Amino acid sequence: MTQRQVPVLVVGGSLVGLSTSLLLATAGVPHLLVERHRGTAVHPRAASFHQRTMEIFRSAGIQEEVDTAAEKEFRQNGAIVSVESLAAEDVTFFFRNFNEGVEHLSPTQRRFITQIGLEPVLRRVAEERGARHLYGTELVGFEQDDEGVTSVIRSRNGDIEETVRSDYLVAADGAHSKVRELSGIELAGRGTFADCVTIYFRADMRELIGDRNLSVVYVNHPELLGFFRFSITGDSGFLAVFSTTEADGTRNTHVAADMDTARAEALVRKALGRSDIPVEIESVQRWSAAASWASRFQDRRVLLAGDAAHVMPPTGGFGGNTGVADAHNLAWKLAMVLEGTAGSPLLDTYDVERRSVSSLSVEQAYTRYVLRVDPSLPRDDMAAPLDDASIELGPIYRSAAVLDDRDDDVPVVDPRDPGGRPGTRAPHLAVELHGAPASILDVFARGFVLLAGPAGQAWCDAAGRVAEDLDVPFVAHRVAADGSLVDRAQSFPKTFGTGDEGAVVVRPDGVVAWRSAASSANPRTDLEQNMHRVLFR
Ligand SMILES: Cc1cc2nc3c(=O)[nH]c(=O)nc-3n(C[C@H](O)[C@H](O)[C@H](O)COP(=O)(O)OP(=O)(O)OC[C@H]3O[C@@H](n4cnc5c(N)ncnc54)[C@H](O)[C@@H]3O)c2cc1C
Repeated sequence: MTQRQVPVLVVGGSLVGLSTSLLLATAGVPHLLVERHRGTAVHPRAASFHQRTMEIFRSAGIQEEVDTAAEKEFRQNGAIVSVESLAAEDVTFFFRNFNEGVEHLSPTQRRFITQIGLEPVLRRVAEERGARHLYGTELVGFEQDDEGVTSVIRSRNGDIEETVRSDYLVAADGAHSKVRELSGIELAGRGTFADCVTIYFRADMRELIGDRNLSVVYVNHPELLGFFRFSITGDSGFLAVFSTTEADGTRNTHVAADMDTARAEALVRKALGRSDIPVEIESVQRWSAAASWASRFQDRRVLLAGDAAHVMPPTGGFGGNTGVADAHNLAWKLAMVLEGTAGSPLLDTYDVERRSVSSLSVEQAYTRYVLRVDPSLPRDDMAAPLDDASIELGPIYRSAAVLDDRDDDVPVVDPRDPGGRPGTRAPHLAVELHGAPASILDVFARGFVLLAGPAGQAWCDAAGRVAEDLDVPFVAHRVAADGSLVDRAQSFPKTFGTGDEGAVVVRPDGVVAWRSAASSANPRTDLEQNMHRVLFR
């Protein structure tokens, strides 16, 4: 049996495995990805991608490509509504425009693109940047020791079996993660509460849709609860069905159990509200509505990401976005630990940071499920709903890689009033960089970045020396009307909470690691000590 040697093995080549691969490749980390299927997604599944996800893609240099691919699949900025059937006149709006009220919070916009449209972009760019992908290949087992992980992979037709020796294994192998199971990691949370189906169908719905731009249509019909998404041409789509109400009035939350083509067609007709339109069922996919997360996202050298680490109902469109955020949190930590810039305990902060933020998304998806889909579910311990923008852009990381002196349990900050708190996403600010309009987010990517207020030049000078002393990629900018980042509106000191003389240090994932709201008598020592803490050196 041949043995490959690689720093990181990624298991799973769907949305989250490919995002991990793209971000590792962008950070220059050699790795191998194995995926059981022969190609990328064949079912659309996730389509609503949040601003934070688009910011991650922007930082990886693929925003334009994703935007272009998205335009081919959907009219962007559609509404999210609830109806009794597509033919009904009464429409309740959750969003009139998917980006309504959030346009100014980010240099990116929320996008509608399916996994069929997105995954090939992620795959191609990752491979162009040196990633090695083996499709039609599955992980069949692994063992880890103090120095690394030894995995056995097998081609799908069973004729090639190899071992892979890696420093780390990233499990992006989905909700039924074999890696999670073999690692003995239990699930926490609420478990499964419905066995659902997604019915893919063809039908000419152009007359029913009319000139309305509808991204997601929740169907609240006396006989079924679910949601529609349509193709841009209006002649195909899917209906996801969460539950049905049977003739005797009982609610059936195990719709998947007795589904066949005739039943699927009847459900689509009911949801359309018209019996005269020909409907052709293409396929039915079964899935579970669950709200759970792994009790640990890490077992020594094995790290769980995406649905392997958390599953949630699609209400809110958080699942895939949360997985991409896992990949983003993990990639720079792996890069810095592998190249020796950071100590290995930095990787332990992945579990702490992502588990708490992911469980928040899971609970918010559950709350939306109860409020929008199934009010019969227990709500006595349901989390109070938070607004979508705060879940997308406002979560707070608390870990040893964040130097925050506040001791509270506030889950999120409001991105409309961000404040630059350590542990939060560094907020977007329109600036000029090298004479061109930019977002302040555009300077975060590979290394650490120090941003100082208009009178904070001493911090910038200190950062240059600390970069040399610690041999850490560390760029500094004074953000001011006459700074290296030009802030004509002079809003940086308030937006980031630094005042004129203070500074923030931002991690490669665009999260504020540390902040000083004032000048220092000894900025070099302060910075050096704090960088030692954040890098575990
Ligand atoms: C109807 C529906 C609508 C949704 N809409 C949204 C939305 O709008 N927005 C959103 O953010 N999320 C949405 N989601 C959720 C989203 O689809 C998932 O969160 C996302 O696909 C998870 O990606 P993943 O890569 O973690 O897992 P998966 O997509 O499950 O991929 C795991 C991959 O690992 C591979 N694999 C498994 N085991 C092995 C092995 N041993 N060896 C090799 N490969 C292996 C599998 O073949 C698979 O390709 C939706 C889900 C559904 C069902």
